[in-house]
Amino acid sequence: MLKNLQNLTPSPKMPVLFLGHGSPMNAIEDNSYRRQWQALGQEFGDGKKYPQPSLILCISAHWITRGWWLTGMDKPKTIHDFGGFPQALFDQQYPALGAPKVAQELSRLLVSPIPKGFLEVDLEQWGLDHGTWSVLKPMFPAANIPVVQLSMDYSRAPIEHFQLGQQLQQLRHQGVLIVGSGNIVHNLRTLDRNRHDKPYDWALEFDAITAKHVADKNYAALSEFLKLGSLATQAHPTHDHYLPLLYSAGALDSKDELRTFNDSIDMGSISMRSMIWN
Ligand code: ZN
Repeated sequence: MLKNLQNLTPSPKMPVLFLGHGSPMNAIEDNSYRRQWQALGQEFGDGKKYPQPSLILCISAHWITRGWWLTGMDKPKTIHDFGGFPQALFDQQYPALGAPKVAQELSRLLVSPIPKGFLEVDLEQWGLDHGTWSVLKPMFPAANIPVVQLSMDYSRAPIEHFQLGQQLQQLRHQGVLIVGSGNIVHNLRTLDRNRHDKPYDWALEFDAITAKHVADKNYAALSEFLKLGSLATQAHPTHDHYLPLLYSAGALDSKDELRTFNDSIDMGSISMRSMIWN
């Protein structure tokens, strides 16, 4: 159990986020997605709607590993894990500190399925990828909240990602803001930059089915998305951008209420639908 970690302190219950991050350009472009992230960040802090987080635990679509890993460095580097974008995007830095002690403690307490039964701590390789910093920078521009990333073992069945998310629930009572960062529909092959207001029918359908499960608090059903067959593979030719939703959903309790924002589909096949539960 993840109650009363040595390196965290009890807090009022923190919300859980799932953020559709979409194009890396959303980090620096003035658009409605980014403005919503900025506004959301303003809702956190002493005396505000949500408490100030003492730590952000981010599950990004862009950190795919064998086994599960946590970032354990003091100063995680900002990773520019994309190509073909303007220099201004490569110039972005997000100098939030890490939380090595918490990462070490979590690695021992979180139970992963076989082979090892515990998570590994990465001290060198990763850092903060754009799935993390492109949303956190608009939300928390001061970068004064430590950030730990949790990777996703892509070889595992969707239900196992949900189950790992369930283990994170108790962290919400210890000042940790859990952020899943992906996209509910994510097909880059069909993406069309000129297709603003005309989402593909299958994109709308998959997005609506997922939204209904979430609204119905039918969180376990989210893990069964592959049963949708060709609709699921159209929405997610690979499902790295869907899996972070399962961690966020796993961390919810029966009392959590949903608020949805950025619920539009960008470029035909990127759902930006985002949620906060509290
Ligand atoms: Zn992405």
